[in-house]
Amino acid sequence: MGFRDRGVEIKTPDQIARMRVAGRLVGETLELLRSSVKAGVSTGELDAIAAENIRAGGGTPSFLGYGHPPFPATICASVNDEVVHGIPGPRVLEDGDVISIDCGAIVEGWHGDAAITVPVGEVRSDVLELMRVTEGAMWAGFAAARLGGRVTDISHGVESYVRAQAHPNGGSYGILEDFTGHGIGTAMHQPPNVPNYGRPGRGPKLERGLALAVEPMITLGSKYTDLAEDDWTVVTDDGSWAAHFEHSFTLTPDGAWILTAVDGGRAKLAELGVPYGGE
Ligand code: MG
Ligand code: MG
Repeated sequence: MGFRDRGVEIKTPDQIARMRVAGRLVGETLELLRSSVKAGVSTGELDAIAAENIRAGGGTPSFLGYGHPPFPATICASVNDEVVHGIPGPRVLEDGDVISIDCGAIVEGWHGDAAITVPVGEVRSDVLELMRVTEGAMWAGFAAARLGGRVTDISHGVESYVRAQAHPNGGSYGILEDFTGHGIGTAMHQPPNVPNYGRPGRGPKLERGLALAVEPMITLGSKYTDLAEDDWTVVTDDGSWAAHFEHSFTLTPDGAWILTAVDGGRAKLAELGVPYGGE
């Protein structure tokens, strides 16, 4: 492993394989949480499920104690107009809510970071469409990534996908600009930033051994946010609802490898006609 321009961490194939171990644990934890989401469950209960599963899998929750003030939980649980960084607690999910769950784990020093948005029972159709667009934008970002390309090829892929989708209420989607994807490896957040908008062909080169978390945060309205009084929860400034999907991935000579997807991304990449680069 070495550090190149601007602090970009380049991993060896063996180190990427170790990141896959952490990534799979994160992916499995999120699938467990997805199946646990229902009306009547509190976000604190989801947090406990995540903590237990990560520790049972030999990992350490990476969000716990992160930042200032120290984040007090294993997952971020962001409901409805909360976009990211919601603190889990006594809030009980209700039918019609939507919850974004972000999860990170460390296994033997290597990080995985991923997020899903999950409907609680019957959810408004415009919110379901928002979820579809946000997840689709993440995959469009992976599909735009090629060895030898540049980081903002991913950004452009994400934004282009979102802008090509009809808004269910005739408005336009808000793409958050104040929060971005990021490099990942021996730390959760590393250079480079991976914005969810912008022109292609810029930023560090996409090379073998680079691992990135791609994470579009999209709203049905405003791209602007406020910080709640807990100093963590990020809410839309207009009250519109939001979705967030994230996977950590890398490129190998064979194609893309989605390190935090349980199947490595094999099925979805095949659907998109993108070569699979995992083991
Ligand atoms: Mg995350
Ligand atoms: Mg992240």
